[in-house]
This record gives sequence, C-alpha cells and structure tokens, in this order.
Amino acid sequence: MNEQDYPQGTKIIEIKQETPTVKTVVFQREFNFKPGQFVMVWVPGLDEVPMSLSSKNSITIKDVGETTHALHAMKPSDKIGLRGPYGNGFSLKEKNILAVGGGFGTAPLKPLFKNTNIKWIIGARNKEELLFTEEIDTLICTDDGSKGEKAFVTVLADRELATGKYDLVISCGPEIMLKNLFKVCEQHNINAEFSLERYMKCGFGICGHCAMDPTGWMVCKDGPVANSKILRELKEFGEYTRDKKGEVTSL
Ligand SMILES: Cc1cc2nc3c(=O)[nH]c(=O)nc-3n(C[C@H](O)[C@H](O)[C@H](O)COP(=O)(O)OP(=O)(O)OC[C@H]3O[C@@H](n4cnc5c(N)ncnc54)[C@H](O)[C@@H]3O)c2cc1C
Repeated sequence: MNEQDYPQGTKIIEIKQETPTVKTVVFQREFNFKPGQFVMVWVPGLDEVPMSLSSKNSITIKDVGETTHALHAMKPSDKIGLRGPYGNGFSLKEKNILAVGGGFGTAPLKPLFKNTNIKWIIGARNKEELLFTEEIDTLICTDDGSKGEKAFVTVLADRELATGKYDLVISCGPEIMLKNLFKVCEQHNINAEFSLERYMKCGFGICGHCAMDPTGWMVCKDGPVANSKILRELKEFGEYTRDKKGEVTSL
C-alpha cells in the first residue's frame, strides 16, 4: 500500500525503543483525549488493533504478535491509520490517587505523569522491561529484584494503602496482576479504576467481540476503564478471555 492508496493515514515522525520489547511510535496527528482512552491503529495490509494513547500523538507498543511486530518494524515517514479516540478514560474524581503500572501497562497511565495528586508504583519482570521509570518519581519493583524492590506491585500497593492516604487506585497491566491488586483494594475498601483489554474489532460497540460476562459490559464502549462496582460484577475478570474466534481461553 502506498501513500496514494491511503491519503488519510498519518505519518510516523519518530520511533523510540523503550525496552527490549516495547517501542513508542510518535505520529503527526494530535488527539484531544482523556487519559485511558485508546485509538484503533490500522497497519495497511495487515490488521487494525486497539492501542492506548501514551500522549496526544503517540502509542507505546509491546511486540506480541503479527500486527505489533509490523508496527515495531516501521520507520519514520511510514504511514498508519488511526481512528478514535474511543472509550471512557479514567474518571479521576478522587483526589488522592495511587497509580500502579505493570509492564507495558504503564503506557496508558503516562499522560498522567504531570498530575501532582498521584503517587506512582511501577513494576516489571526485570529492570530491562521497566517502562518510563526514568521520567517520573516512582516506587519501583521487579519480579527478579534486578531494580527496586524484589516484589510484585501488589505488595507495594498493600503497604501504601495501609497508610490511609488514598481514595482511588488506578492501574493497567496483566489481568492476573489487576485481579490481585483488586483484592488488595477491596481489603482496604478503596475504589479502583482499572484499564482492561479484550480482543475487539470495531472499537465503538458494534461488533460485540469485547463484551464481558455476565453483564455484556463492553471494553471498547463502556470501558476500557472499569471501576470497582463493574469489576465486582465481571465474572470473567482475571479468569478468562476470548480469542480472535470468540472462543473462551483461560488467562
Ligand atoms: C483498549 C486496549 C488498549 C490497548 N493498549 C495497548 C497499548 O497501549 N500497548 C500495547 O502494546 N498493547 C495494547 N493493547 C493490546 C493490543 O491491542 C494487542 O497486543 C494487539 O492487538 C496484538 O495484536 P498482534 O496482531 O500483534 O498479536 P496477535 O497475534 O493478535 O496476538 C498475540 C497474543 O497477544 C495477546 N492479545 C492480542 N490482543 C489482545 C487483546 N486485545 N487483549 C488481550 N490480549 C491480547 C494474545 O494472548 C495473543 O496470543 C490494548 C488492547 C486494548 C483492548
């Protein structure tokens, strides 16, 4: 596909290698968006995938499969298609916020780095996979202890919440991490707003692929950010997901 076939695409202006498996793609088009909202990213000739905005003109991508691999292989001046922004974003109604980023899940939280009401915890498997920790004052933990505390983010969150200083926990990361973090929030009786991921095709509530059991809450249209009330209702949260064909697979 060349530029003539695809005049509405936006040009990539910069690509940054953030970790061995994560790159940030900066593009020309700028979005007026709420942190936590996402865009549908079309890679001409391949597929269209949801990606959270990590700034008004960037997405931060982990290389996990065919489309993300193609995005990683792109160069400045290549073109991608973008539509959005979609979804609700974080409400941020409360004032004293603990933000917890796990792995590349820190990407949708990045637009909140300037917010001074937020205390940060960022974790990853090892120090190479820590994302954006150089850009912000944050507590750090790694599974292998190669940087920061050798612990899961839930251990640090539990300790922070015990201080009684917070009234909201926002997070994004692997769903198993989110499930365990939610248990910690419930134990401390603190509201949660977590950004969830499911396969989706349309991005705005038509295809129904991302509807979650048993309520049919749609990650694309009703989410991707779910609050405590919603999380309590979603029986598939932390348990199972659906693959491209819609078949149930355990997490
Ligand atoms: C609202 C939303 C925001 C997202 N934001 C980001 C982001 O900021 N950065 C980022 O790197 N990724 C993000 N994702 C996930 C991203 O969309 C998938 O990684 C991508 O679609 C994978 O496409 P692929 O063709 O490379 O891999 P595929 O070949 O489709 O999949 C490779 C593996 O990745 C997993 N996977 C793929 N898509 C999803 C999905 N939607 N949910 C859960 N697991 C999936 C599956 O385990 C699969 O086996 C987001 C997803 C959603 C729903």
